[in-house]
Amino acid sequence: MVKGMVADIQRASIHDGPGLRTTVFLKGCPLRCLWCHNPECISFNRETLYYPDKCIHCGRCEEGCFAGARVVCGAEMTPEEVMQQLLLDRDYYQNGGGVTLSGGEPMAQPEFAFALLDLLKNENIHTAAETSLYLYSDEVMKKLDLLMADLKIWDDETHKAYTGVSNKTIKENFIRADELGVPIIVRTPVVPGIEQGIPDISEFAKGLKHSVKYELLPYHPLGVTKQIALGEKPMRFDIPSREKMKELSKYAYIR
Ligand code: SF4
Ligand code: SF4
Repeated sequence: MVKGMVADIQRASIHDGPGLRTTVFLKGCPLRCLWCHNPECISFNRETLYYPDKCIHCGRCEEGCFAGARVVCGAEMTPEEVMQQLLLDRDYYQNGGGVTLSGGEPMAQPEFAFALLDLLKNENIHTAAETSLYLYSDEVMKKLDLLMADLKIWDDETHKAYTGVSNKTIKENFIRADELGVPIIVRTPVVPGIEQGIPDISEFAKGLKHSVKYELLPYHPLGVTKQIALGEKPMRFDIPSREKMKELSKYAYIR
């Protein structure tokens, strides 16, 4: 039986694709982006996040923490179990909404992702995925109505330095996805202090026949608190200024 390691199921999201969506966050990612906003989704294993400022020292950790100080991330679920939860929000998927697979890297659990997307397509629910495209599955791609994929840094050496992996495979996988004809939103998280090559990425995105949009997303230090809660060394970057985002907006587009 196929099972997936699910980090979270977030309802009523307006940031993970068109319309009102439910987002399924899967655990496991082969990248190590220094600015990662979901560090609790990098490991494939179940983990505990501890927020000391919320702890009331009740000494009842064994029973589960009701103060939100100790949060377990990761539950093994079948696609059918996840689907049961997703169908509760079905009415909200009208008007262009649907379900988005995110993470972590949804392509890192391809059998589970395929099985869940298959169930969603059988119910005529719009499907999307947020991915780094470092991993690729034709079967998963064919079940998607929309692909939201990052090209974070153009230069390969810089990409390796900040994400831990080469971007050659990622660029190749963009081409493969484009050949399948799936509509693609190309995205770059804007992280001040890193030479990301945004003009080159914009040109690359324009060259894809099925890219519908190039989006620039300002870095947000969401992951820092979670890195600390995981016992990791936090990595802090500056938030890009409005002026910087405005200056870069000439490279973004909608087709
Ligand atoms: S159950 Fe939660 S609040 Fe109580 S001691 Fe454990 S972590 Fe702290
Ligand atoms: S690809 Fe996403 S989940 Fe993976 S390390 Fe980078 S920001 Fe985090």
